[in-house]
Amino acid sequence: MSFHTFTLQTAARELHDITAQVERIVTEQGLRHGICVVSIPHTTAGVTINENADPAVKRDVLWKLDRLIPAVDDYRHAEGNSHAHLQAILTGFSVTAPVVDGKLVLGTWQGIYFAEYDGPRTRTVQVTLLAG
Ligand code: ZN
Repeated sequence: MSFHTFTLQTAARELHDITAQVERIVTEQGLRHGICVVSIPHTTAGVTINENADPAVKRDVLWKLDRLIPAVDDYRHAEGNSHAHLQAILTGFSVTAPVVDGKLVLGTWQGIYFAEYDGPRTRTVQVTLLAG
């Protein structure tokens, strides 16, 4: 197993494509076959895999999450960002993808996204590689 991190400067709210950074770590580490786990140590951001072809999908995801979990509601959390905590729960905090023949295996239209719900912030992305 090997563990790696990189930082990300995020905008206020965005789905930030981190596929290239993750692929770079897989390549640099020389992993031929195994599992790649991408996780984040945050509570108001998430990580997910979704379409990276049509940018409108990113807009639609954030638009719908805002309607499902609005910024203003009957929240009690003093920091005032409960919507970001709740949206992060829906997105989740880790994804996995196989590594075969030295390549991260994603679908043709898939990318790995850091989902920022409470930026702008400096965030950390963790990449754990498991050889198999
Ligand atoms: Zn909070």
